[in-house]
Amino acid sequence: MLTMLKRIVQEVNQIPVFDDALSCLANRLIEALKVDSCSIYLADYDQQHFMLVATEGLAKAAVGQVSVGFSEGLVGLIGQREEPLNISDAQRHPRFKHYPEVQEDNYHAFLGAPIIHQRKVLGVLTLQQKQKRRFSEDEEAFLVTLAMQLAVEIANAKARGSINLLQENIPKDWQKSLKGVPGSSGLASGVGYLQDMMVRIHSHVPKRNDNQQEQIQNYRQAVKQTQADMAVLSERMQGEVPEDVRAIFQLYYHLLDANSLGRDVEKEIKSGWDAPTSLKMVVENYVRQFQAMNDPYMRERAVDVEDMGNRVLANILGITTDKNEKREIPEQAILIAEEVTAVMLAEFPSEQLKGIVSMRGSNNSHAAIMARAMGVPAVMGLSNVPIALLHDKEILLDGYTGDVIVSPNGTIRREFDQLVLEEQLLSERIHAEDTLPAITTDNCEIRLFTNAGLSLETEKNDNPYSDGVGLFRTEIPFMMRERFPTEHEQVELYRSLLEAEPNKPFTMRTLDVGGDKPLPYFPISEENPFLGWRGIRLTLDHPEILLVQIRAMLRASIGLQNLSIMLPMITSVSEVSEAKRLIRQAFYEVEEEAQEQGEVLHMPKIGVMLEVPAVLYQLPQLSKIVDFFSVGSNDLTQYLLAVDRNNARVADLYDSYHPAVLSALHTIAKHSDLLQVPVTVCGELAGEPGGVVLLLAMGYRKLSMNNHNLLKVKWIVRNIHRGSAEQLLAKVLTLNNPQDVREEINLYLESVGLGGLVRAGI
Ligand code: PEP
Ligand code: MG
Repeated sequence: MLTMLKRIVQEVNQIPVFDDALSCLANRLIEALKVDSCSIYLADYDQQHFMLVATEGLAKAAVGQVSVGFSEGLVGLIGQREEPLNISDAQRHPRFKHYPEVQEDNYHAFLGAPIIHQRKVLGVLTLQQKQKRRFSEDEEAFLVTLAMQLAVEIANAKARGSINLLQENIPKDWQKSLKGVPGSSGLASGVGYLQDMMVRIHSHVPKRNDNQQEQIQNYRQAVKQTQADMAVLSERMQGEVPEDVRAIFQLYYHLLDANSLGRDVEKEIKSGWDAPTSLKMVVENYVRQFQAMNDPYMRERAVDVEDMGNRVLANILGITTDKNEKREIPEQAILIAEEVTAVMLAEFPSEQLKGIVSMRGSNNSHAAIMARAMGVPAVMGLSNVPIALLHDKEILLDGYTGDVIVSPNGTIRREFDQLVLEEQLLSERIHAEDTLPAITTDNCEIRLFTNAGLSLETEKNDNPYSDGVGLFRTEIPFMMRERFPTEHEQVELYRSLLEAEPNKPFTMRTLDVGGDKPLPYFPISEENPFLGWRGIRLTLDHPEILLVQIRAMLRASIGLQNLSIMLPMITSVSEVSEAKRLIRQAFYEVEEEAQEQGEVLHMPKIGVMLEVPAVLYQLPQLSKIVDFFSVGSNDLTQYLLAVDRNNARVADLYDSYHPAVLSALHTIAKHSDLLQVPVTVCGELAGEPGGVVLLLAMGYRKLSMNNHNLLKVKWIVRNIHRGSAEQLLAKVLTLNNPQDVREEINLYLESVGLGGLVRAGI
């Protein structure tokens, strides 16, 4: 049966048009299972019914016409009970409902299975037979297995917009609330503008051509043209986004280089394929390689490679890349695309670009990185929506929460306008206090630091309002290269960072690769990378890498006094002792060098990240050998709750407001205080309104966060009373689940006049 299942799924997967694929599936199933009828119904939650979308055995004319209410008939019953239904004579079942159009009078035996994806019923798959009999357990198990596989395909097809149940009867005043992932914060309203490439490399039909010279010529010419286009776009973005974000165009440029993609494409041409086909083969191969990478950042690059392939192909074929070019772009446009790419953003008239909706992609996509750099609100990964429905519609977009509202009614629009107004006022008020100290109304002072280095756009650390850098993630400079950076390259980078504000502390973390951050030139293949060779575990196993990095940090700090070094993923005391031994070894070496130059090298403070739950039970021992602690609430949440922080399927379970996480954070604050070890929180929680209030109440006095959260956090601190925050904490620690904690926090923020943050979703 497994072979049969695989064969059917494989065959169906190859059919590009989804409706055809479903019909084929129904057909193959009746052949394989020797039944008389197979039908597929898809749920339409707006209409509250299941629509018959494919059948073999029932009247074909009923497809797209017959719908079964969610609480009607046997199909409705399967949806309600969320389990299979196996009956020998359907017509005698009390829930049987007669639909004359489907012509099922001769059928008796009935087996149906719900199609469920992420707890949501997407449809129902049914088998029917003339004979009266119960289907066997094998048949039932087979149908359930198939329905599970089908669920994934349906969810994907919905994400691609290939299922248009709604499209035929969309009411004029259709209004829909959609949910995506926040890509770039801010609120925006405008008119949807669907941008799509006319030429798609994956739909190009392969062809052979023996005139190799001509094909190579065509290809090279198209590459030149594409490089020229990129140069123009890159030029246009100068000053709009930081230099390192512009590096995206460099990536395109390098990929187009004769030595990477070019060589492979020309090899294909020489084997007899025409230029477009050769390009298709090579690009698709590259895309597959990027998609297979573990690191989400690198995985996202597959989009850029495909986009670049589409552009070269268009140039080979002499077609303009944008079929929308002639259409008028609205004054206030919300750019919509299946996959918004960095290049698309560069091409779009920036004064008209108010917001971005990308059906695919995530927070790590280049488009999201660029949107943040350009200050344009963006929502990514908006699945389950036919994309065409967003074109030319009024759209409200909330880049804080990921909400997108299409064709809002008057009330919603007025509420949104009110939010935009509140956001503006709030932002003005926040900025009006930017130079004032972060001190609560009862005089408790909090020091605010920035996190730097996570993404390309946050390299700039000279935030005049911060007390220094609480966490510099050193991974990105390692990830952006094709080999380990040399000691000299590292010294240059670290020196420029330390020198930027020599009077403010700067905490550099040693390399924390592994987990979801593999180095492209140092592949690690593991079943459980987050529980594997990551952070200090990897660098202690490779002292040559760690020593180079530490020496570079120390050499960069000659004559300065602001460097601290932090060790990630510490699980055992011995790891700290071993790392300190290497730090001392490097220190003596560099100190000698400094003395020769007549300079002084100061021993940096050495601290550890508290992010693996094991260290909660070793704080006294650790306190004896380190100068400071820094709580990595992101990983602490992941490891305490056993929830992979990158797995969308369990994203709902990943919550730093979980009572266990809060209790752990509270314990750390109390013990650090008793042990007299300075402690900072540098995970995302330290930049969230609720997190700030609770952490302050727990006793944390140093918080480190992303640059763009700093003034907001300062404003929160300035508007709260430590005593009342402590009362909130006492209450919150008695609660059972994160939702209740959030509600309690929101009530508190409202009560102290910070409700604007909640309402604006900031
Ligand atoms: C953390 O885990 O909270 C942290 C700050 O480090 P990273 O997000 O880089 O793992
Ligand atoms: Mg971490």
